[in-house]
Amino acid sequence: MLEALSVFTRMNTDVELLWNWWEEDHYQREHDRVWRILSQWDNGASQREHTEEELEAFEQRLHEDIDKKTKEDRERREALVAELYDKEREGLRLQLLRKEADAGFFRHVLEAPANKAQREDAERRLGESQTEAGRLREQIGDPDDVLDSDGCLPAERREKHLEQHMRYWRHPVLRELATKNRRRFNALLAMPVPDAARMCSECQAPAEWHEYDLSLRLFRSRPARGSTAERLAQLMPGWWERCPACTAYRIGHVWGGTYALPDFTGEQWRAMLPPRLRAIFAPGPVEKKLAKPKPQPLATIPPGPIDEVMAKLQELQAKYPTAQVRQGARGSWELWPATEGPKRKGSRQRADE
Ligand SMILES: [Zn+2]
Repeated sequence: MLEALSVFTRMNTDVELLWNWWEEDHYQREHDRVWRILSQWDNGASQREHTEEELEAFEQRLHEDIDKKTKEDRERREALVAELYDKEREGLRLQLLRKEADAGFFRHVLEAPANKAQREDAERRLGESQTEAGRLREQIGDPDDVLDSDGCLPAERREKHLEQHMRYWRHPVLRELATKNRRRFNALLAMPVPDAARMCSECQAPAEWHEYDLSLRLFRSRPARGSTAERLAQLMPGWWERCPACTAYRIGHVWGGTYALPDFTGEQWRAMLPPRLRAIFAPGPVEKKLAKPKPQPLATIPPGPIDEVMAKLQELQAKYPTAQVRQGARGSWELWPATEGPKRKGSRQRADE
């Protein structure tokens, strides 16, 4: 009974409770179960059960309360915006978050740089990002008290984004993966509820994802037709969808030139991801790399009577005067160019892999 009451009060808002209710009918099942228990409740005040009408009226009052609170909240926020909203400061805060995500990205690269040139470039860019982030922080003050144009503080948006992450991304993706890809499904299902304080205030991803150039910007409509944004989106794939607080490394990489780290590859990015993110997001390893073609002999002579083999060898000697004769598979003879052909086990193995 108490358990049912507890679930009932939490089943619309408590992310901890709802995190793994990804199946289409899970909510309804719980709702019915809890309702069955609660509707049998006898508080001792009367000896009769609550009627269907009374229970409906109870639910109705609950909804009215919520509507009233929503209205009050909207009015309070409008007053806050009129008094405190600062568009420039909001923009600077986004720049700060992006620089911090950049710094995070280059820090991850530096955990295992591909070579010296890459390490030096990443070190330089890490330094620049940190300097810039420090400068922005001085200018902005506390980034967590910067109000947005809806009158919401970053902490409030993080709470909201955690819930949206669950409802509009986690649950639908789990439903899809359940039948399509069990490996990714299991990885995503095992992901614990992120701490709301560690969510991004600008999109539905945990902030840490942005250090790996992963965004989750749900509810983003397409850029207006004919707008500059539309042209930019065509020129720079991923730009429009990317969260403004996320590192822009990938776009720079695609752009190329000095924007790309020397010798940085998709494979390196994949290796850099924490295991859970890799299991959820990274494309699977290329199933089988195309093997280099195996060297083939110039000619093969099948085993047979000595005169036939000798005749064949003479014929081939005229054609390949410098070739070497080696023993082939199943008693055959093979002619190889003097400098090529399979050597003894081990010597060529690496190059052929
Ligand atoms: Zn974000």
